[in-house]
Amino acid sequence: MSRIVYVNGRFLPHREAAIHIEDRGYQFADGVYEVTAVRGGRLVDETLHLARLDRSLAELRIAAPMSRRALSFVLGEVIRRNRIRDGIVYLQATRGVAPRDHPFPADTRTSLVIAARRARAVNPKALAEGIKVITIPDIRWARCDIKSIALLPNILGKQQAREAGAYEAWQVDGAGLVTEGTSTNAWIVTEAGELVTRQADNAILNGCTRLALLDIARRIGLTIVERPFSVGEAKAAREAFLTSTTSLVLPIVRIDDTAIGDGAPGLLGRRLRELYVSHARNQAAGGPELPEVA
Ligand code: PLP
Repeated sequence: MSRIVYVNGRFLPHREAAIHIEDRGYQFADGVYEVTAVRGGRLVDETLHLARLDRSLAELRIAAPMSRRALSFVLGEVIRRNRIRDGIVYLQATRGVAPRDHPFPADTRTSLVIAARRARAVNPKALAEGIKVITIPDIRWARCDIKSIALLPNILGKQQAREAGAYEAWQVDGAGLVTEGTSTNAWIVTEAGELVTRQADNAILNGCTRLALLDIARRIGLTIVERPFSVGEAKAAREAFLTSTTSLVLPIVRIDDTAIGDGAPGLLGRRLRELYVSHARNQAAGGPELPEVA
């Protein structure tokens, strides 16, 4: 079956889907995106993703391409037409097509592309044995809270991680504090058993997995501290893990050359992963996104 992509009002075969060369996304990375997981043919944490999309668009003063309801319908159509049960949907919205000039053009229409694909299986070895991260300087801009398609520092960092045999690179600010991974949020569990992740300021993307997991952690009564932590503190932590839409919750067993805890995936991270997976499964079965605590 050929893949179907939504491009500016039309559902097209993947090979025919194209964007104008003067699209500002192509020329200036003047746009935003979302990656949302699909489970059982339904979007996971849809409200969180659509709220973040609205926020990113508003911060850049890009007009919403359509109402939330309409967007939700088109997302569902892309999933349905591609017969995706488990996978991801990629959505990109840019300021549109205009002759190349830096200021905002007067009359452009927001360009919208939505594509979906089946999920890549989670690497069972990464899950069972944990993964390694390296630390690198955070060379990004001061508005990492916007899910911009401008991802050069992120791809350079991810490539550096790959070349070092690591899954991810944790970016570190000028004060020696971890901001986040190149496409994931960073977490540790302290010796005192506190769950620590950086507060959602302009230095990080407020991950939808992060938000859902914070909610889950609160419900089970964990002590949560949203604050920055240093590389040294992370290396001395009892556990470390990362979160994202595609990795869910993945245990970290090594940061640079330091083993974390006893060098095996931590128990709390494992439990949180299981809870997150059942949270996603619950939505796949038609349940609510953030169920009320019983
Ligand atoms: N941080 C960055 C820089 C990201 O690019 C991503 C996801 O792409 C995340 C964090 C995790 O966000 P989410 O949980 O919404 O996938």
